[in-house]
Amino acid sequence: AHEAALAARSKDNLRSPICCILGHVDTGKTKLLDKIRQTNVQEGEAGGITQQIGATYFPVEAIQAKTAVLNKDGKQEYKIPGLLVIDTPGHESFTNLRSRGSSLCNIAILVVDIMHGLEPQTLESLRLLRDRKTPFIVALNKIDRMYGWEATPDNDFRSSLAKQKRSVQREFEDRLEKTIVAFAEQGLNAVLYYENKNFARNVSLVPTSAITGEGVPDMIMLLVNLTQQRMSDRLMYLSELECTVLEVKVIEGLGTTIDVVLSNGILHEGDRIVVCGLNGPIVTQIRALLTPQPLRELRIKAQYVHHKEIKAAMGVKIGAPDLEKAIAGSRLLVVGPDDDEEDMMDEIMSDLTTLLNSIDKS
Ligand code: GDP
Repeated sequence: AHEAALAARSKDNLRSPICCILGHVDTGKTKLLDKIRQTNVQEGEAGGITQQIGATYFPVEAIQAKTAVLNKDGKQEYKIPGLLVIDTPGHESFTNLRSRGSSLCNIAILVVDIMHGLEPQTLESLRLLRDRKTPFIVALNKIDRMYGWEATPDNDFRSSLAKQKRSVQREFEDRLEKTIVAFAEQGLNAVLYYENKNFARNVSLVPTSAITGEGVPDMIMLLVNLTQQRMSDRLMYLSELECTVLEVKVIEGLGTTIDVVLSNGILHEGDRIVVCGLNGPIVTQIRALLTPQPLRELRIKAQYVHHKEIKAAMGVKIGAPDLEKAIAGSRLLVVGPDDDEEDMMDEIMSDLTTLLNSIDKS
């Protein structure tokens, strides 16, 4: 079993990275999410995109389809099995996604409105990303709003830009330059992604439109390349469970549930779990492991599918007794046969101080 674990722990066997979207209000975070979630394949077909609890999973087949315009020669390598994108954009879900202070969000998209440049919440997002040392790319969104822009839906950015009138290209260059200067004022070297020769030093800018879909293939391809080239260490499978509570919610018929992101390991129905609670550690047993009903099954009344076990990476809803006081942002631990429950309760509660501190800050 040890050998198998070692073999599984290899750079050729990566887990799916987790991606968050941040940025100022109205920059187009929600619209960008909608755009990348749009499916061309029939709902529910193999290779399709699946809606999860609090997240959307893109299997590699869907990623390949969405980046096909940039891979006409078929030379692009896709090593990640998929991408898990967190559905709630913004600070809160980003700050809740953490484990011992480090972020579970492997890569972030910081959305900036190209017509407005850097805004107050852009700077706040930058501070959060730096605090958590989270790699990110910048989507320079709303390029279609530049005067005279002629859209080619879902095109790659460079060929769309090449088709524009000279005046539009000039406006783009001008706005790009201003954005680069604004980032420089924040101490960051920002460069157009296809001119970025050093991912470690420079932040990549990807021009996008969430309305026309232009630049969206570029954005997804950049996420793929950055994660598989620069983060393969962090994306190797761990034997340890990595799971975080994103939200605590009361659901009719289920009582208080927790929505979690399982980023590594396996959860089972019946597992004994420990999470952080307002009045102390909560130890309980998983009664229900749930994911949303696939769209094609909507005629079935039940809203959720029950599972005996679920493997990472996934967005999962957990039903269990005594979750009323659970805290979003808490880690979730599973008590194994050889584990000391008391130790785990102490460990979970030691997170509370860090958690409360960062709630104060955000
Ligand atoms: P959020 O607050 O960052 O989630 O922003 P939304 O996604 O709600 O978008 C805010 C407004 O900008 C909405 O009216 C969108 O239709 C519009 N919008 C978003 N992205 C684009 C874009 O790329 N081009 C244009 N023209 N409008 C956009």
